[in-house]
This record gives sequence, C-alpha cells and structure tokens, in this order.
Amino acid sequence: MKSCDEVLELIAEGPVPSLPAADQAEIGEHLASCAACEAFLRTQDEVAPLVRAALAVEVDAALQAELDAAVMAAWRRRA
Ligand SMILES: [Zn+2]
Repeated sequence: MKSCDEVLELIAEGPVPSLPAADQAEIGEHLASCAACEAFLRTQDEVAPLVRAALAVEVDAALQAELDAAVMAAWRRRA
C-alpha cells in the first residue's frame, strides 16, 4: 500500500492510463481504501474534472501540465 503522498505524486506524474498497470492498480486501491484521498480529490473542483479526464483518457501535454499544477496546488492547500 502506497502512502497518500506517493499516490498523489503518481497521479500528478503523468496520464494515469499511461502509468504502469501496477501503479494504476495502486492508485485505484488507495482511493478505494483511503477516504481522505478519495474525499480530497472529489472535493477539489479544479482537480476533479482533470483527475476524471486522466482516468478516462490519455491527456495531451498541455492538459497534463494543468493537472500537475492543479493537483499539487490543491494538495499543498489541504487542511
Ligand atoms: Zn490517501
């Protein structure tokens, strides 16, 4: 099981569908079992659509850069 920081880093690292299958599984398992991260990502309005997009389709470089910045900014603001 990865830590919360490790999972957030993975999500910010690249389009989720392009990550190794093992990493995608880790992310899915973590979000399924970690209410804090799941709720955190769900409540970040600026991140949620990007996370959903990353989970659903490969994103282009511009969207990926946006995702990286949004995830990291939101993560730094977490209470
Ligand atoms: Zn977590």
